[in-house]
Order: sequence, then C-alpha cells, then structure tokens
Amino acid sequence: MRLVRDVRVRAPGKINLSLTAGPPREDGYHPLETVFQAVSLYEEVLARPTGGEIAVETRGRGADRVPDDETNLAVRAAHLLRERTGVDGGVHLTITKQVPVAGGMAGGSADAAAALVACDDLWETGLSRAALSELGAELGADVPFALAGMSALGTDRGDVLTPVMSRGTYHWVLAVQDWGLSTPEVFAELDALRGDVAVAETQAIPRREGSAAGDVVAALLSADPLVLARALHNELEEAAIGLRPELADVLAAADRAGALAAVLSGSGPTVAALALDAPHAASVAGVMRGAEAAADVLVVTGPMPGARAVTAVG
Ligand code: ATP
Repeated sequence: MRLVRDVRVRAPGKINLSLTAGPPREDGYHPLETVFQAVSLYEEVLARPTGGEIAVETRGRGADRVPDDETNLAVRAAHLLRERTGVDGGVHLTITKQVPVAGGMAGGSADAAAALVACDDLWETGLSRAALSELGAELGADVPFALAGMSALGTDRGDVLTPVMSRGTYHWVLAVQDWGLSTPEVFAELDALRGDVAVAETQAIPRREGSAAGDVVAALLSADPLVLARALHNELEEAAIGLRPELADVLAAADRAGALAAVLSGSGPTVAALALDAPHAASVAGVMRGAEAAADVLVVTGPMPGARAVTAVG
C-alpha cells in the first residue's frame, strides 16, 4: 500500500541572460532566441489528495495578485494531467511564492511545472520528464524550462530547449518590484518601437547580426563572470523602459552599486545584476537597497536544477 499522502515540489524562477526577438509571426508569437538560467528563487507547491476536486490556495510574495480559480496555471496543469492520463484523483495545491508575480521570471510557469511533477507523483501517473514537458508547453512557453532548469537555449516561443553547458556558479542581485509588466504589452511596445507588423513565419528571422545567445553560451563555458557580464543582452529592455521609465533608474542603480552588468529579465520588471562572487553580491545588494530603486533586493545563484520533489510526508 502506498503511504505517501502529500507531495512537496519546488521549481525555480528563471532569468534571461540574452533575449532576441524577431517580428511577430502571423500567429502573433514573436520568434525568440534566449538563454535561460534557473536561479535559487523557488516556487513551492504542496499537493494533497482530495476526494476529486482540484483546488488551489496561494501564499507568499504577491499571492493577492494570483488567481485562485480555474485560470491558475497550477490548477490548469493538474486538470491537463488528469484529462490526458484518465486518472480520477483530486488534489489540493498550496503554492508558496517567492518569484515575483508578472516579474519576467516565469513564476506562474514554475507553479505549473511544480504542479505537473507533484500530481504525477501523487496520482502515480508515471509520465516521463519528456511527456511532462510536452504537456507543460501546452500551458505556457516557459513551463518546459521550469521543468528542466540549469541553463538552456530556448528557441521558437522559448519552449524548444537545448541544454547549455555552464561551468561555475553565478551570483546575481535581483531588483524585484511589487508591480508587474504584462508580457504581451511589452512585445506590443517592441513592435511599435520597431514599426513591425505581422509577417509570414518563413520571414520571421531574428534581425540581430551575430548571435547574442552565442556570446552567452561561450561565456557560460568560460566560468568567468566578467565574460558573461559583457554578453548580457535583452532586446525587450527598451520597450519595458518605454512603458515604465523608472526601470532605467534601476539599471543605473545597479551600475552605480558596482555590479559587473545588469539586464532586464524577460519582459521585466525584474532586473538581474551580475556580481563577481558572493561577497561582491552582498555588497551590490546593500548599496541597491540603500538606493531604494526596487521594492526588494535579493541575492540568488544559478544555475539551479528544475522542478523536483523536496520531501514526501507519510
Ligand atoms: P512570463 O515571463 O512567463 O510572462 P512572468 O513571471 O512575467 O512570466 P507570471 O508571474 O508567470 O509572469 O504571471 C503572469 C500572469 O499570470 C499574472 O498576471 C497572473 O495573474 C497569472 N497567473 C496565473 N496563474 C498564476 C500562478 N500560479 N502564479 C502566478 N501568476 C499566475
């Protein structure tokens, strides 16, 4: 008889070390080339069996801005798994958030990834990681990376992943806001800045000469934060600053605090500032806190593994 009744899974938030976007395709998506790194800021999902209903409650950072109904990505993940596997189990999900909501760190995707792993375990559906990743991609483009973790190149919608070899540990200072940016609005601003209109998929090639992702991939192999600092690049930065000009002050504050470099994560508003090592990260964070450019300043490291069970309580 199976004794395990609760499953606790944690999944990391991500930052984007590079991000380039082509003009929108006819289906509305912008083809992306991005290098993700999973960092030590985690979402935790506790899954408890129920008689049959699927329910959620959310605690922690920004919980009041997370829906507690069927639109919650963790709830959608549980429904999708149940529908595809034909199990009749129910689950109560308790999400404890550390990743900022609508922060460009894919917190909702991490919740979905954690819920998939937790429910697969709880309901003993035994899906492979590859199968969970395929289900995850239906829920959101960033879910496969939250399952995989570490460092990876993401193409297409960011959901086609190639693992990237990374040496060493990188120390980041995250400037986190208590407000969010909508990813579609940031992409719309990018299109407006560029004067882009939708084009056929075959023409939708990233326009940057060379490859920002290639520079980051080479830098991650070097294990040298100074090399990585030179490679950080996000094409959404200007659009995000266009919508929230105070983000320019956050980037400037990171510079003044002595960070090696700073970059917007995804569509923002989180800014990731790179430090040389742990003491340097603590010093940069201290100065940035004093500058009051962000609601919170956190020190994290990466890369970190993807969604996995942390305890199983009997
Ligand atoms: P991305 O970069 O993938 O767009 P993000 O980190 O900017 O992600 P999320 O925190 O994933 O943004 O949330 C985006 C929106 O999704 C929020 O406005 C929120 O209301 C909604 N949402 C649905 N389910 C969740 C969840 N479990 N956690 C957080 N947000 C959720």
